Amino acid sequence: MESALLCYNGRIHKDRPDSIVTPNSQFIMKITKDTVISLNYSMFDKDNQLIDRNVEPIVYLHGGYDNILPPVERALEGRGVGDTIDVSMTPAEAFGEIDESLIREEDVGLFPPDIEIGMMFETHNQETNEEMQFCITGIDAGKVTVDGNHPLAGKSLRFEATVLEIRAASDEEIQHGHAHGAHGHGHEHGHEH
Ligand SMILES: [Zn+2]
Repeated sequence: MESALLCYNGRIHKDRPDSIVTPNSQFIMKITKDTVISLNYSMFDKDNQLIDRNVEPIVYLHGGYDNILPPVERALEGRGVGDTIDVSMTPAEAFGEIDESLIREEDVGLFPPDIEIGMMFETHNQETNEEMQFCITGIDAGKVTVDGNHPLAGKSLRFEATVLEIRAASDEEIQHGHAHGAHGHGHEHGHEH
């Protein structure tokens, strides 16, 4: 670790007067693999209508861990605190095209009696061991229409974000593939990694 040799009581080692690190240097951290990023974001549809924006900053582990949409991650690479990105994505680049096979009619008897259009449900498929979320999109003549597509499937999106904070990820975060701590992955469900 050469950088450790340069440090001597917080000063630059006298044997390296040509170092680019001077006592007045400011270290400016950039987004690279295995940094944890805090962002403010806004998301717009193709008519530039606001769809979503964060309440609390979102925090994610950067570097191909599948924590954020890939085009957004690519746009953030190399950016610093205060930088803003603006990324336009096709449905395929964002949350996917609408998959008609995920829209189905089910018997109303399978559902609780008080269902309404717009309600979200989660199912657990015993065969594939996958959780699936779906939305009730229609109730008619004893049949319920459910849609398992992501609510933003089929939409072109524009994603605007401002970088609030960058820090190095801990070894544990890198192992788990996600950020920990405030606004990060809190292990609130108690699952082991
Ligand atoms: Zn974890």
